[in-house]
Amino acid sequence: MSALKGNQAVPLFLPHFNLQKYNTLAVPALARHFVSVKNDNELREALVFARAENLSLLLLGGGSNIVLRDDFPGLVIHIKSHGREVVAENDEFVWLKVAAGENWHQLVEYSLDNALYGLENLSLIPGSVGAAPIQNIGAYGVELKDLIEELSALNIRSGLSVTFTNESCQFGYRDSIFKQALKDQYVITSVTLRLRKHPQLNLVYPALRAAFTDVPDTDITPQQVSAAVIGIRRAKLPDPAIIPNVGSFFKNPVIDQARFEALKALNPAIVSYPAAANQVKLAAGWLIDQAGWRGKEVGGAAVHSQQALVLTNPFKLPGLVVLELAASIKQSVYEQFGITLEMEPRIYP
Ligand SMILES: Cc1cc2nc3c(=O)[nH]c(=O)nc-3n(C[C@H](O)[C@H](O)[C@H](O)COP(=O)(O)OP(=O)(O)OC[C@H]3O[C@@H](n4cnc5c(N)ncnc54)[C@H](O)[C@@H]3O)c2cc1C
Repeated sequence: MSALKGNQAVPLFLPHFNLQKYNTLAVPALARHFVSVKNDNELREALVFARAENLSLLLLGGGSNIVLRDDFPGLVIHIKSHGREVVAENDEFVWLKVAAGENWHQLVEYSLDNALYGLENLSLIPGSVGAAPIQNIGAYGVELKDLIEELSALNIRSGLSVTFTNESCQFGYRDSIFKQALKDQYVITSVTLRLRKHPQLNLVYPALRAAFTDVPDTDITPQQVSAAVIGIRRAKLPDPAIIPNVGSFFKNPVIDQARFEALKALNPAIVSYPAAANQVKLAAGWLIDQAGWRGKEVGGAAVHSQQALVLTNPFKLPGLVVLELAASIKQSVYEQFGITLEMEPRIYP
């Protein structure tokens, strides 16, 4: 959305804007101001407007990892930039620079159509390219940090563009410097990925491996891996367009080995995954399920019956309803296992 000033398009600031179609939980919250930006100039204008009006900011991609607790009293900047460009290549790799507003899954499809490999395990993750580094998206044994070379970001205070290398993003499990020391300080404007010309498949995740029993690895293509990932995700996760949700509501808790052994002695069936040295990652969905929450509904918000890690908002109610359900789940998991669950989506305002 933009208007003409002289011969120049300027972004249009819309007051009292309903965000229901802009967050996958379908929460009907209002933004005090809303603007869509297509490039760095429009983004800078939006930042100037926010500063002049003393407005807090919400940078919005696909809205698939936020919970709107209430109306947002500031400026929502919807990042809608587009573009993909090969910036370098050698015999093994292609470096693809992608604008922040591009849709993530469409990028995965584009890469496969153009014989560029590495993104197949990350098929069907909702949202934008620019949000992907924020929590280092990951699925089926692959994380964005395995593929990202660098990213460009605009400093919100100075308006200057900065390059962050993979290392300087300080990626961790569903984590990056943009959720920690540099929280709310940068707008990511593009991401450069290092993709392979020759496939190197990652089938370590058991459910994915199970999709290829009796098929020799040499016969499996990245397109088939992508199709298998899509199949598994569709069977397990509700489509937000039909049942509003934000995917995993909690992170899988990481605990040390000694604590894990003690928990396992009490709960022999506990589900876990390997983590860093001397640490174990627990399946938060299993803990929630064991605490009796799977399929339950409270106040209109629900725990998905196929996957207890996913909370849904079938009646498109205010975000507070979902947050109240999340708080009850958190408390009962703590009481039963002594484990404190941490929310994955970010809450606004
Ligand atoms: C059904 C479903 C399945 C999911 N599965 C997975 C999964 O397998 N793995 C996984 O990791 N995640 C998963 N998610 C979570 C989500 O898709 C990802 O976190 C995604 O990267 C969010 O993108 P978005 O554009 O929707 O971000 P938004 O929800 O719009 O924003 C999320 C956060 O990033 C910030 N942000 C957005 N864009 C920018 C930018 N350009 N610059 C700076 N900050 C920005 C926002 O301010 C906000 O804090 C799933 C969600 C759903 C609904």
